[in-house]
Amino acid sequence: MGEITNWMDQIVKENPNVVTKVDYGKTYENRTISLLKIGSKSASAKKAIWMDCGIHAREWISPAFCQYFINQTYKTDPKMEQMMKNMDFYVTPVLNVDGYIYSWTDNSTRLWRKNRTPGPEGCECLGTDLNRNFDINWGTLGISFNCCSIVYPGKSAVSEAEAQAITDFVGNRTDEILCFLTIHSYGQMLLIPYGHPNVIAPNENELVHKHKKTTCNTDLCLAMKKVHGKQYTVGTSPDILYSFSGSSKDWARLQGIPFAFTFELRDDGTYGFELPEDQIQPASEEAYSGALHIITHVHDKEFIKPTSTAATVAAMLWTTMMAVFVTSTVIV
Ligand SMILES: [Zn+2]
Repeated sequence: MGEITNWMDQIVKENPNVVTKVDYGKTYENRTISLLKIGSKSASAKKAIWMDCGIHAREWISPAFCQYFINQTYKTDPKMEQMMKNMDFYVTPVLNVDGYIYSWTDNSTRLWRKNRTPGPEGCECLGTDLNRNFDINWGTLGISFNCCSIVYPGKSAVSEAEAQAITDFVGNRTDEILCFLTIHSYGQMLLIPYGHPNVIAPNENELVHKHKKTTCNTDLCLAMKKVHGKQYTVGTSPDILYSFSGSSKDWARLQGIPFAFTFELRDDGTYGFELPEDQIQPASEEAYSGALHIITHVHDKEFIKPTSTAATVAAMLWTTMMAVFVTSTVIV
């Protein structure tokens, strides 16, 4: 973790005009939660993209991807340069700092998922599942109130400092943030709102058409597949994974942020959370391609005035996005 903190400081030092570090919370063990704000200075009002990594401690590919993403943004290509004039990127490399550090302790802690807060009185176990702790249908679905469970949602909605930090930072910028991306592993999936089977986001069709049991061959899936041949699936959690409440993505969508995705990075279960080191680079490259595809769509919809109506352009870009139906019992 020290390495990641030093790396963030180094990036700021090398790119003072484009990158700033923002501390926006403290973990239970009193460590600082920081993000990098990346974007060119602009006279006009900007929009923003949110990305957080490392909400679940054991999903080590996630913080690695956030670092990869940041390195790509400030190196830039012409399209990224244009987008950085119109949008800032808020990227948190590690949200659950306490849990992440704990997962690095030894083999016995490697698969730790939650943060490190004490359970309620009378319970010996530590930790809350931060992706069950947000204020959206809190404590109703895909959770357990046994505090030893890996999906323990906490004592109440937003009881955890780490969830509170996102709630405050993003909640104060809902007019600015166009897109909320939260990065997990594993399963090779892109999840859209909502995690609750009875709630459907109003623009769901723009993100995905619900066709189960078919290969995802939309532009988004193809953009990821063309990098290293890996097939990703897109859909809501109840459709392609499992139902659950209290996730950051669902919360963000409920705040009115029009696009919200959970990325479940590599792999498909061969190595699971313990993805070999030599897959970090290819996994990051394909995920970057997917993220860039989404971000470009979001940017162009907001900033490029179409010759036809925005709706037509969106429909052209996002038609027939299909999801493969996958059953899974692994909690990611
Ligand atoms: Zn996860």
